[in-house]
Amino acid sequence: MKCFNHPERDAVASCQKCGKGLCRECAEKHTPCMCDACAARVQKDRLQQAQNRENQRKQKYKDALVDTRSEFIATVVIGIVVAVLFTWWTAGHNSKPVGFLESVGVFFFYFCIPFGWKFLTYLQSFLPISIFGTWWFWFIYLIVKLFASVFVGVPAFIYQLVKTIRAQRKINKLK
Ligand SMILES: [Zn+2]
Ligand SMILES: [Zn+2]
Repeated sequence: MKCFNHPERDAVASCQKCGKGLCRECAEKHTPCMCDACAARVQKDRLQQAQNRENQRKQKYKDALVDTRSEFIATVVIGIVVAVLFTWWTAGHNSKPVGFLESVGVFFFYFCIPFGWKFLTYLQSFLPISIFGTWWFWFIYLIVKLFASVFVGVPAFIYQLVKTIRAQRKINKLK
């Protein structure tokens, strides 16, 4: 067999991919031993795979950002529902009329409760304990968590808002 590139030379090896004969000079060009065409194809496949991995990584990153935004929007909706319910519920208990600003402030405070709740649930995921208890235990636990949610609600909302604005900016940049 002669070398594919040099018909005057005897082949000392053959391409591992297509079996073409290669002289010593040609055989030493690529590792493992391949002809130029096959080496180019292998290189191209490798680049394509790297590109695919990069695209997948980018997609995952973008999905996570979109998830952050979706969760924020969902919590906003829940917050509005909670605020409306609480406002409606407490309206009957107020003996003296409240000012507009105060009403807005209280509404916002209620609105933030689900954000506090989510934040506490997030913190709970770091606790390596699983708690089992009676019906009463869970009732008190939920009440305590609700009160704690009221206290951490506003900062939790601000944190989520900033996080979502950042996520939105990153999403815009990716487009
Ligand atoms: Zn080949
Ligand atoms: Zn050759």
